[in-house]
Amino acid sequence: MADISFFDEGALVAVMTTQPLDRALDYKAPEGGCHLGAFVEVPLGPRRVLGVVWGPGQGDFDISRVRSIIRVLDAAPMRDELREFLRRAADYTLTPMPAMLRLATRAPGLGDPPSMRRIYRLGSGVPDRMTDARQRVLAVLDEYGGLAFTLKELADAAGVTSSVIKGLVKSGAVAEEDSPRDLPFPRLDPDRPGKALTEDQETAAAALAQAVRGGRYGTTLLKGVTGSGKTEVYLEAVAETFRRGRQALVLLPEIALTAEFLTRVQDRFGARPAEWHSGVTMTERRRIWRMVGQGEAQFVVGARSALFLPFRDLGLVVVDEEHDTSYKQEDGVLYNARDMAVLRASILGAQVVLASATPSLESWANAEAGKYTRLDLTARFGAAVMPAMRTIDMREQKLAASRWISPRLKAAVEDRLAKGEQALLFLNRRGYAPVTLCRACGQQIGCSHCDARMVEHRFLQRLVCHQCGETQPIPSVCPSCGAEDKLAPVGPGVERLSEEAAALFPEARIAVLSSDLFGSARALKAAIAEIGEGGADIIIGTQLVAKGHNFPLLTLVGVIDADLGLQGSDLRAAERTFQLMRQVAGRAGRAEKPGEALLQTYQPDHPVIRAILSGDEQGFWQAEAREREAAGVPPFGRLAGIILSGPDAAQVFDLGNALARNDAPLRQIGAQVFGPAPAPIARIRGRHRVRLLVKAAKGAPIQQAIARWIAPLKLKGDLRLGVDIDPQSF
Ligand code: ADP
Ligand code: ZN
Repeated sequence: MADISFFDEGALVAVMTTQPLDRALDYKAPEGGCHLGAFVEVPLGPRRVLGVVWGPGQGDFDISRVRSIIRVLDAAPMRDELREFLRRAADYTLTPMPAMLRLATRAPGLGDPPSMRRIYRLGSGVPDRMTDARQRVLAVLDEYGGLAFTLKELADAAGVTSSVIKGLVKSGAVAEEDSPRDLPFPRLDPDRPGKALTEDQETAAAALAQAVRGGRYGTTLLKGVTGSGKTEVYLEAVAETFRRGRQALVLLPEIALTAEFLTRVQDRFGARPAEWHSGVTMTERRRIWRMVGQGEAQFVVGARSALFLPFRDLGLVVVDEEHDTSYKQEDGVLYNARDMAVLRASILGAQVVLASATPSLESWANAEAGKYTRLDLTARFGAAVMPAMRTIDMREQKLAASRWISPRLKAAVEDRLAKGEQALLFLNRRGYAPVTLCRACGQQIGCSHCDARMVEHRFLQRLVCHQCGETQPIPSVCPSCGAEDKLAPVGPGVERLSEEAAALFPEARIAVLSSDLFGSARALKAAIAEIGEGGADIIIGTQLVAKGHNFPLLTLVGVIDADLGLQGSDLRAAERTFQLMRQVAGRAGRAEKPGEALLQTYQPDHPVIRAILSGDEQGFWQAEAREREAAGVPPFGRLAGIILSGPDAAQVFDLGNALARNDAPLRQIGAQVFGPAPAPIARIRGRHRVRLLVKAAKGAPIQQAIARWIAPLKLKGDLRLGVDIDPQSF
């Protein structure tokens, strides 16, 4: 076979660009030639665009008219493995290749000339005089700690001109340095003495280490109750990966908030990992992108997009809280990072660890089927035990109108306050009240762009649409009937609950933890740390608090509305509620003091509530599995959503009906199509959305069938089609 890893000058090469043209185009290799996988700049019409050398040219053009690659960018070529991963991920998610490629070329400034790589960070000097603009620059640098910015990034972030920054450089208050490329990451030492593991933990850690030593692909489901030491265990697999000279990636939901995890890595390995998420500056991301490619960054902790980094030799991917729905990207390219981690690892010959206290039914079924290895940690570490869980039957509690804390829960909170312990009141609803109702005409205030209600946020003094983010001032006149002073909040959000708590417990220090109450991730992180140290008596929080924060003084969790997630027709509702309730309850009693979880419910005999209480997970999964199997839905069948959208509802429905009628390619594989029906989000930002649901047997080639099915479709005007393989809600 001819060596196609290098192309001489003038050779015909195929280049995949990041522009929406779903095929590679032919170009001539530039002066000096180019490698397969090289990042290049090519002419496309009148523009210059970024692309990757994808293979030998197809030669289906008149060679004399083929244009040349403009230049090869100063970055290591994309490895075969990553190109293969992108190809397979594109096939799996039915995403056009250029959109997939964009996920892997998000390295900012890939094409910047070296002269632009001067960076700015906080200096030690004192400015000769202080202005508002200068203050803003220093505040931005302070906010991001040691991170560096380019001139443009810093100017944009602070909202100043570059001359303001130059002025600060003169006085030494801001330091200007050369290329951050050479700034190395500190080495992580796998052989520093770690914590002494318990026998259970040791067994699990040894099994993972052995799998890492095997150097082949494999996935392990690491299941263990909150606080059982899953993190301690998988950090040992990370250590073994370093010993083998390979790189490790840990994916976390809510990565921007996890100061605790970084500290633990520091304790274990003597240095911090590289952090990859939206809160990290462009300069830092550029540095990580390069260092990861050179193998200089051994350890990356990141959000789902870290999966697309050009690792030199990735040996281990950990997906922590693998059941978390935030791993599914619901915008742009629709992919589930957990599944893509398994795909990339299988191509690489790497290990995957899926860690969770409450695994997804998908992973549970894969373990049952023997596709994944399963490791269980059954006991919480040290003296901590799972909290005692009880229901409060709300039918028997006397509650005044617009009150949500039952007498029984109130007494339990008072008991903790008297003992100097913390209580968490959990309500998964941001804002003040989920509904604003006019008492004159009975109308609820809705978003004018979406099929959603406007939610009152008293703290922000605005109504907010949680779907599209639209906000408006809180009106005093009903937008429907014009009645004055008739608008009333209905139902509780965390802000309203905090008012009730303040009235019931006037002496207590109350902290509300909801993502929208903090200006930045950093402020939220600080609030979480303060609460952990005892800075509050009562914590009122949304699902934000369910995710892995340690509050050692917390001994009581009160769930305000355990029935909330059980409403609706989503087949995953039971699974989600089970996971969320077990996770939230797991926040209580992590230290020496035993915890208690009280669930306020109107249906204490509901099978899901009963399973949550008994903690009979095996029983719960089996019952869930039976139902899903009978319905032929994931993980026992395949589903895909086709989302059609456009400004005109009738037009979108017509298109959906036409598609549904012409379903021959689906019938060929025995698949069925349901709908069109309004999508789970039926209208967003003024666009009407309609969904067709395709259901097929587990082994059926659903992607190919869908591709054939939608190929003849001509989308006119403003109509759009998106494919959602393995939709989250069904
Ligand atoms: P999980 O990831 O399962 O929730 P963690 O790994 O976070 O559990 O462990 C819970 C707490 O117990 C952490 O504070 C951790 O440091 C501590 N811990 C767990 N195992 C040990 C151990 N073997 N020695 C000391 N501390 C431990
Ligand atoms: Zn809206």
